[in-house]
Amino acid sequence: MTTPDVAGDVTFEIPQGSRHEFRHDLSPDAPALENYSEGDGAFGYAHSYETGSRVDGPGVRITLFLSGCPLRCQYCHNPDTWKLKHGVRVTLERVVTRLGHFAPALRALKGGLTISGGEPLVQAAFSRRILGAAKSLGLHTAIETSGFLGERANDEYLKELDLVILDIKSGDPETYLRATRQPLAPTLRFAERLAAMGKPVWVRYTLVPELTDDPANVEAVAKFVAPMKNVEWVEVLPFHQLGAFKWKELGLEYQLADTPPASSDLVARVHGQFRDAGCNVR
Ligand code: SF4
Repeated sequence: MTTPDVAGDVTFEIPQGSRHEFRHDLSPDAPALENYSEGDGAFGYAHSYETGSRVDGPGVRITLFLSGCPLRCQYCHNPDTWKLKHGVRVTLERVVTRLGHFAPALRALKGGLTISGGEPLVQAAFSRRILGAAKSLGLHTAIETSGFLGERANDEYLKELDLVILDIKSGDPETYLRATRQPLAPTLRFAERLAAMGKPVWVRYTLVPELTDDPANVEAVAKFVAPMKNVEWVEVLPFHQLGAFKWKELGLEYQLADTPPASSDLVARVHGQFRDAGCNVR
């Protein structure tokens, strides 16, 4: 357990931990997302970071979870990343210094840095500067994003990225809206832009029984992704209930309390749909 060191109104200590830990009201004075203007990205808000991740890109990685997300996915396991105020306010300098401590090990393990969230493009200036610093340290860089704010990732931003992990949460616009409360189109536009420039992408698809499992919905994602040569993998993530307690802690209505985990038969069917469309799936 570390004690945050505080200078002025900036809390420097970024919490090491896990995406499954609950964080709440660590920066109660942080603005609401709609009022947030981050300036040059010299500081930002972070939920936590994990070391030793083997699932958020190639090799062994540090995954940094930033605060702020414009989506409201019914199955979100990190609703404590939706608002900036639930994260810690951290300086870019402190993040980069901490990253530097890990850089030799990450390079040796052929890994790097992945910025996730929340949605990393909510804090596009902050995340771009972190990614740029990571590249200067010789690290492989990635973000995990819904793509909803893809227009904020300008060419300068994408230059700092070796990989985009793109969550395409549904192929049917109505299902997407029901699952996330936001439209699908910006994500598809971002995916097409990444394909046109040949940027490596891993697509993630969260498989939620009775929400995203309709065969036609899966088929729409598979057919959209299959022709994209830049998409290296489609990863099917079976729904789980690990984040349910966070909804309760935050006093939010959790609609999936009775939804079972995706069965192995269902996962196999969806893998088969992606494979049959011509995708590399795992
Ligand atoms: S995009 Fe991610 S962080 Fe945002 S609501 Fe959906 S699952 Fe949660």
